[in-house]
Amino acid sequence: MSGIHIPIGTPDGTRTEHAENLLAPNPSAMTLDGTNTWVIGGGEEVVVVDPGPDDEAHLRRVLDHLGERRVTEILLTHGHVDHSGGARRFAALAGAPVRALDPRHRLGEEGLADGDVVTVAGLELHVYGTPGHSFDSLCFWLPADGAMLTGDTVLGRGTTMIGQDGGLADYLRTLDRLRVAAERLEARALLPGHGPVLTDPVGALDGYVAHRRERLDQIRAARARGARTPREIVEIVYAGVDRSLWPAAEESVAAQLDYLDRL
Ligand SMILES: [Zn+2]
Repeated sequence: MSGIHIPIGTPDGTRTEHAENLLAPNPSAMTLDGTNTWVIGGGEEVVVVDPGPDDEAHLRRVLDHLGERRVTEILLTHGHVDHSGGARRFAALAGAPVRALDPRHRLGEEGLADGDVVTVAGLELHVYGTPGHSFDSLCFWLPADGAMLTGDTVLGRGTTMIGQDGGLADYLRTLDRLRVAAERLEARALLPGHGPVLTDPVGALDGYVAHRRERLDQIRAARARGARTPREIVEIVYAGVDRSLWPAAEESVAAQLDYLDRL
């Protein structure tokens, strides 16, 4: 697709016209290839979204890559440590404040919330409050590139786990809202916190909603067969999934049971 460069085999170096990904070296079953650190801007100023884990080599690589360009602000899609762990150190290196929804992750005066517009180098980033994966999840819409930065709300591969600090009812509302926005804004790309760029935003969001419904049906079916605890349900529903993901799956199942019990 014009304007989007996607390297083969790794998300590192993926770019749209005004956004570029520098992949952090923290691959795992949960973080896929690692955390995507997005640099947004043009000319002499940039905003850095999710410095990633507290990994000195990665933070210095991002800074070196920027050369003379100045970091005006550091934004966090949410407070999970694979996104925020390096924020303080990067703020010190770059001399820039950290803005996040959760005050515990801010450094400086300014927060970050739904409806805010962050400007850099003549570009706008529109902030969407997108709770679900975590209570403090945000997405950033970059109109200049028709791109939505989605953090862990939508991943480039697989699906998102609902954490103990998130909630499924919120998450389903968030997916609906993003889908409506993607269609209305004619979004051309989702730039996720992990994994490759998605170039069919509406299709990807439809897939996420369908997956959630399917999982809920599977959990209802597992319960009907007598499974009670999250662990028992995971053993049935996630039987084909790598066991290293089972603890996270248990959290996700607990969130889904909580949702079903409130219906
Ligand atoms: Zn993450």
